[in-house]
Amino acid sequence: MRGPSIVADQQANIRDLPPPARERTRAHKWLSERRLAEFKAKEKEGIELYLSKLAEEKIRNHALAHVRDRREVMGLLLGGIYRHDGTEYALVRDVATTDLDATDVSVRFDPRAFEKLFVQLDEIGFRYIIVGWYHSHPSYHCFMSSTDVQTQRTLFNLRAHSALVIDPVNKEIEAFFLDDGRVRSRPFAVFWDQFQSPYYGTSVRMRQTEVIVSGEMLEPDDAGNEERSGLRNDA
Ligand SMILES: [Zn+2]
Repeated sequence: MRGPSIVADQQANIRDLPPPARERTRAHKWLSERRLAEFKAKEKEGIELYLSKLAEEKIRNHALAHVRDRREVMGLLLGGIYRHDGTEYALVRDVATTDLDATDVSVRFDPRAFEKLFVQLDEIGFRYIIVGWYHSHPSYHCFMSSTDVQTQRTLFNLRAHSALVIDPVNKEIEAFFLDDGRVRSRPFAVFWDQFQSPYYGTSVRMRQTEVIVSGEMLEPDDAGNEERSGLRNDA
């Protein structure tokens, strides 16, 4: 692979950015009961990995597409690393993948298909860094095999890097990271942008109506705006 923008050289430039608002995040529906409990506990102290609805759907569909032939799938997590209130977190906005050389227990990018991957990366419409990778375990649950750990150590050895493992047969998903070299589970949230929310249109009309009635000035649109105005997407 040509040198991807991995986080190390950008550590100094980590921007302060509030994470997605609580009402625009949720736990993944494939979390086991135990992982869901961990998610809820982590939500209070600060989630370290957010996966956009778009990225989540692409990963899930990619894995589900190979349930029948029992092949593993794999791809890269694209996004950014940010910091807020003392918590560093990764935001995955999209994913990229290419042709794979896969069996039911192994997967790698087809070396002949790197060009395709690079074209896809070049076409991503936002500035990103590679913050981790995903791959599937069709039917044998979510864990980090010794090969997976080796991959993580070689390419994604920073705390901010994640390995997302998905089992499309048992409908399970789990994220992992290296904590001083040790593999640990990482609670993560799925988020959606305001413009992705199915209720966005309603919310905007309500806000406009409110402004006209009260004569108030609209504040610049930002993530916290809806919260302050008491309008919620999940109303
Ligand atoms: Zn694996």
